[in-house]
Amino acid sequence: MKVLLVFAHPEPRSLNGALRDVAVRELEAQGHEVRVTDLYADGWKSEVDRADFPSLTRDERLVPAAASKKAFETDTQTQDVKAEIEKLLWADTLILQFPLWWFTMPAILKGWVDRVFAYGFAYGVGEHSERRWGDRYGEGTLAGKRAMLIVTAGGWEEHYAARGVNGPIDDLLFPINHGILYYPGYDVLPPFVVYRVDRFDESGFESVAERLRERMRTLATIAPIPYRRQNGGDYLIPSMALRPDLGGADTQGFALHLEDGGAEASRKTKIA
Ligand code: FAD
Repeated sequence: MKVLLVFAHPEPRSLNGALRDVAVRELEAQGHEVRVTDLYADGWKSEVDRADFPSLTRDERLVPAAASKKAFETDTQTQDVKAEIEKLLWADTLILQFPLWWFTMPAILKGWVDRVFAYGFAYGVGEHSERRWGDRYGEGTLAGKRAMLIVTAGGWEEHYAARGVNGPIDDLLFPINHGILYYPGYDVLPPFVVYRVDRFDESGFESVAERLRERMRTLATIAPIPYRRQNGGDYLIPSMALRPDLGGADTQGFALHLEDGGAEASRKTKIA
């Protein structure tokens, strides 16, 4: 496999840095090719602005989606964005690794998504008509590839459980897993989440490292999260609402977009 790991931590000697090294070493030991985008080390520019669109004239109003579309179509994207797109097309598996900051990814990684997931590449793909709402949510440029998150959190696992005060981790990660990764076509694997990391010691680290090695060994075979495909007949067009006969009376919120309301996925997460 060809694996791209996008790493978003400012300190290479951090826990995240150590876990990244564990993941990369294990993947390479399995014979996979690995490339790493180290956002802080690369000085990644995270904000979308005029500098992203060199072909935009001085007087032209910046409309980010339209400018993104034009830059992608006319091959006038900046070199840093082009290089990341080339890596995404090269890789058959994408890993995003980050510490949970304010219940989501650090801004630098969001900025990588904002700039690299361009119009015509990651969104605005396929036929948009009364019959079809584009190639997205299971279809799109990155279909057939796999993606997953490696996340460290200061909070306790219980605080992220179904009734935990922070909200369930699968709900917090849904905008990333479903909205960012599934949208352009990735099969999204269950995330690898490590909790309560701020009080870690050597023995805690070794057991997590071993779990991570195991996840890296099963990257090609583990079942993806069973999100519903947009164009598989489950959603009404053009409202894009889930058909009223699907989902079951007890299922609400994000779990509606899982094929069986998430029962199977949650069983697998518990086993992992
Ligand atoms: P580090 O600080 O590098 O290390 C954590 C611990 O692991 C330390 O005790 C360190 O000694 C030990 N360690 C590091 N490397 C090794 C090694 N190789 N071997 C053994 N032990 C090691 N948490 C939440 O749950 N929810 C939030 O919303 C949230 N928001 C945050 C927002 C901000 C701005 C910040 C700064 C933190 C937030 N946190 C939150 C906590 C955050 O998720 C954790 O601090 C982070 O995940 C820790 O990862 P790290 O790589 O920075 O760890």
